[in-house]
Amino acid sequence: MIERVLEIKFCGEVMMEKQKEVSQHGLTVTRGGKSQQAAVLVNLLRDTSMPMLNYLAEHYGLYRIPGQSKSILIERLLRQLPDTALNQIENDLIAGRYGHLSVDELLNIALVSDAQRSGRAGIPRLDDMDPEEVVLVDSSVDRWVYVMHGYDVEIDLDRRRLKCGCPYFEFSSRRQAICKHIARGLTMIPEVYARKALIDLLLSREYGGPHTPRWEFDHSQAA
Ligand SMILES: [Zn+2]
Repeated sequence: MIERVLEIKFCGEVMMEKQKEVSQHGLTVTRGGKSQQAAVLVNLLRDTSMPMLNYLAEHYGLYRIPGQSKSILIERLLRQLPDTALNQIENDLIAGRYGHLSVDELLNIALVSDAQRSGRAGIPRLDDMDPEEVVLVDSSVDRWVYVMHGYDVEIDLDRRRLKCGCPYFEFSSRRQAICKHIARGLTMIPEVYARKALIDLLLSREYGGPHTPRWEFDHSQAA
């Protein structure tokens, strides 16, 4: 019988989260793959209203404890629910936040958040780029390479990499902010992949922990 122990420590806005398996022999094994997911799930739960958390708890069979705090309820959910239920909850919370949004709406959220983090007033204009200046030079199942205005632009879902050679991206890439070429590229690749990329990017940025896979923002010209 293996018992899972979750230790959740809240330190201001920074969450330190460890997930361990403790066997009956007292051996402690860090759950490598799971801990990367766990940070996103815990932060999503923290960003979920108490009525919804209470609904989830009851839906998955936890008895109700009147007056319990949000952090205690989250801890109970994480401790007592099986992985399949936690995965389902994570998927539902992600779908609830982003599932109804179009590529343009997701892109707008990313661009507004970029602007807010860098203190800029506006977001890059996408309508000043002539479609004839956008050339697809290479593509595979989940990777697209364009030349736009003479700059190499690459979107690579598998490697979580966004790349552009423009001067704007030289600076914005350091702040994990996308340029108008990458934004335009995201509106040109198939919608299902664009939504997948943008949701993953927003999720890792808004809800990720220290071990959540991050997107690489690469400013270089070699495609
Ligand atoms: Zn660019």
